[in-house]
Amino acid sequence: MKKFWRAGDRSRAICEDCGVVETRFEYRTYPLEKPRVDVPDVLVAVCSVCDRIVAVPYQSSPRLNEARKAAEAPLEARIPKHLEDVLAVVASHYGRNDSEFRNVILRYYLHALGESDALARHIRELASGELARGAADERLSVKVQKPVLTRAWDTARNAGVRSKTDMVKGAIIAAAEDLDSAEGKERRETLVEMAASV
Ligand SMILES: [Zn+2]
Repeated sequence: MKKFWRAGDRSRAICEDCGVVETRFEYRTYPLEKPRVDVPDVLVAVCSVCDRIVAVPYQSSPRLNEARKAAEAPLEARIPKHLEDVLAVVASHYGRNDSEFRNVILRYYLHALGESDALARHIRELASGELARGAADERLSVKVQKPVLTRAWDTARNAGVRSKTDMVKGAIIAAAEDLDSAEGKERRETLVEMAASV
């Protein structure tokens, strides 16, 4: 059987600040970074010198995974097949043609849209343009952090976007347009960095 730790147990680990130290196991609130959410009552190993969390035992993984899942919402849309191609071309432009990075692009545009009424209005226009039309034969599903999705959809709706599907379609076309437009420069630079780091 795997070793299970209990609150109060002691072990050793490396603390970034203090070096090799004695640790003690405690239930604490654990700050997840991606998505950013505080998870209460997670068993962690704490540095006995400086009191910071230095390790998370295996037995705490299910609880953290559950919190991760709960903080994300699935965004589902049916879009024309050619928009999948558009998204793939955008991803390739950044040197990445994997589905993970295609999702990163979508999440990034939803985030950007939530921050900008101007981009939201532009996405509304793109979603009713020629390129957005076609049989909705491709199922797209992407996990988005709940606050990001809520803000994106609120902003999009205020700008007159009719549905989440239109929001996704417009976001994909905006990403393609940004590849060689002056307005897209900042977003392009951000995506170059993200392509190198995620
Ligand atoms: Zn320490």
